[in-house]
Amino acid sequence: MYYTIPEATHLVKRAHDPRRWRMRRSPPVDWRPSINATAESPVESAGDLRCYNHPDTPTRLRCNRCERPICTRCATPTPVGLRCPECARGPVPVVYQTAAPLLLRAVGGGLAVAVVIGVAWGVLNTLGLGRFGARYDWGFWFSLLLGFGVAETISVLAKRKRGTNLQAIGIAAVLLGFVVSRAVLNARRTRPLSLEQFLGDPLNTAPFLRIELLTLIFLALACAIAWRRFR
Ligand SMILES: [Zn+2]
Ligand SMILES: [Zn+2]
Repeated sequence: MYYTIPEATHLVKRAHDPRRWRMRRSPPVDWRPSINATAESPVESAGDLRCYNHPDTPTRLRCNRCERPICTRCATPTPVGLRCPECARGPVPVVYQTAAPLLLRAVGGGLAVAVVIGVAWGVLNTLGLGRFGARYDWGFWFSLLLGFGVAETISVLAKRKRGTNLQAIGIAAVLLGFVVSRAVLNARRTRPLSLEQFLGDPLNTAPFLRIELLTLIFLALACAIAWRRFR
């Protein structure tokens, strides 16, 4: 013999409702996939799609991120499936994304520092530092100062970002600083060279502006410092 608690009688009724059992045991008719669905191929037939890199190559594959058609040569396996080469590389890290205002600040600051160091280099060189030893012109130290000064200024202004655009700004600033230093050096000569004289015979006039093989090596060092900082 058993009895039911009055409050629970509706639950007991529901559990014994034959309609409810039927619903549980067999899904509704339209739940089953229609037979026709299996006849449709989930991939497009070959010939419809052409690899976006190789328009002559028919393919059945698509990148699972951007959905562009890719051939087997372009398909790159990743932990989340086949992707096109660009999507396989993933998004550009934040440190390589420099906003335009930061780039502008970097250009302004980098060029300003380069001009200041360039002028100092040119002036100090003709103020007697050049006489410190036979052919010693402090080019090495000014190159270091130019390279690190420009790189550090740009790095701070660009909030420690990196990338090719900052590398280009850094190297351009270093080169500008060097050109400014030579211009100041030239202007302080008793008989300054004209641009025509220099461009007309650069190999023979360069030594008058203290441009020698070693100077160019130091300049390359300064460029390398700027390049390395933003890699
Ligand atoms: Zn893709
Ligand atoms: Zn391809």
